[in-house]
Order: sequence, then C-alpha cells, then structure tokens
Amino acid sequence: MSVQLDVTGLDSWGFNNDGPLIIAGPCSAESREQLLETARGIKDKGVHILRAGIWKPRTRPGCFEGMGEEGLKWLVEAKEETGLPISCETATPEHVELCLKYGVDMIWVGARTTVNPFAVQALADSLKGTDIPVLVKNPINPDVELWLGALERINKAGVTKLGAIHRGFSSARPSEYRNAPNWRIFIELRRRTDGMPIICDPSHLCGKRELIPAVAQKSLDLLFDGLMIESHINPDVALSDSKQQFTPEDLGKVLDALEVKYSVA
Ligand code: PEP
Ligand code: MN
Repeated sequence: MSVQLDVTGLDSWGFNNDGPLIIAGPCSAESREQLLETARGIKDKGVHILRAGIWKPRTRPGCFEGMGEEGLKWLVEAKEETGLPISCETATPEHVELCLKYGVDMIWVGARTTVNPFAVQALADSLKGTDIPVLVKNPINPDVELWLGALERINKAGVTKLGAIHRGFSSARPSEYRNAPNWRIFIELRRRTDGMPIICDPSHLCGKRELIPAVAQKSLDLLFDGLMIESHINPDVALSDSKQQFTPEDLGKVLDALEVKYSVA
C-alpha cells in the first residue's frame, strides 16, 4: 500500500544540486578549529551541505556526547566562511528550537530516534509552522512500517521538504558492515513514497572507510537521490566514528570517482 505523503522534490529545497545531493562533514563538531578546517577542506569537493553532529546519541554513557549549543555557533561560522548550508541531527524539540534559532538549513532524525514514535511525534509537533527540510534515517531495526510511520508523523506536521536516509540496519548476523544494507527495504520505501527523496549514508552503513566507495556507487546505481558521508580533518583522532571518516582530500577522491548517470529533477 502506498503512503500518502505531501512532499516536494529536491529541486525545490534550494541546495543547488543538479545531480545527487552531497552532504558531508564530521560525525561530531568537536572544536571550532576541527569544524572550520573540515568545512574549508570539503567546500570545493562537490559538497552541497555541511553536516556535523551537535548532540550525539552514544551507546554507552561516558563517551563524548557532543558540544551542544556551542557547536551550533561553530556551524554558523563555518557557513559564513564557506557559504555551505549547515545541518545536524535533532532528537528533541529543544534541539529543533535551537536549530531554528541559529538558522540551521536542514535537520535529520537519527536512527535511534526513528524507532520511538513518542520521540518522533514530539519532534513533529515542534516542527509545525516551519519549512526546514527534514531527513529521517531508518530505524536501527529493519522495520519499514516504523520508518514510514516516522515520515508520516513529520509530514502530517506540515513538513513537505521531507526525505529519508538509508544508514543500514542492526543485525545479529555477522557482517562485514557495521549496519547491514537492506536494498529491498529501500526499494519498498521508494515504491511506497513515490517522489520522496532518499539519500544513502554509506559511512554508518559500512563503519569502515575501505567499504564506503563501493556502497556509495551501488546506491547511486540504484538511483538514490544523494549521499551523506562523514569527513574529518584528522579522522584518526576523531571523538566518534574515527574508522569511517575520510580526510577532506580522500573525500574529494571518493566523490570524483563516483559515476553518476542521472540528474535530479
Ligand atoms: C550520525 O549521523 O552521526 C549518527 C549518529 O547516525 P545514525 O543515527 O545513523 O547512527
Ligand atoms: Mn557518525
């Protein structure tokens, strides 16, 4: 059964991409220098939007949990300097409120939030009356209904610049991937949400940089509308997700090597 969503195509989101939308930047904003240097490094590499996690949903307490509002100020500075629109993950209405206050250009809902209808509904309510673009990552478990439900909740709140991100699914099966891809679920989502942009996040899907180029290419071959890829000025010392981040230079090489056979209308 298809789902009735009132969404607009990527061409009306204002990010000036005629091919796949490329979102890149560090897993987390760690310091002003780290974020600004990464932004400077990626700005001429074909990236359309700068990403950086500001509030980090860590599995265990005691890990780096993000810089909060301070990090948003650095994102704004990075935008002023590079001209790149900025984006981050939001998990609560307070996060949304701060993103709106600082003029964040796009937000996404993380995989650990998409699983929770109460959290998604609270986010949706806080988005009423705004027109900020919102991307919804798949839930950590391979449940397409839960993913669709989150998209519907946010769409019913009036968000029409709405899309999804496939970042892979947790599984008890051994896998070379951190979060195994499920292309069937992608195809089902595509079929049931005709016209809604769907982005691939090969970084969280693979968990290791060596695996990322092939998955990125495969997603473009399957006609995903864009990519979200993590990049850090010095990945080896990153405070989160160090094994899956590319230096800006390597990100440029990965993006240059991708074959894109279509433009996004
Ligand atoms: C992230 O984008 O850094 C992140 C935490 O992603 P996910 O929600 O896919 O785990
Ligand atoms: Mn990450």
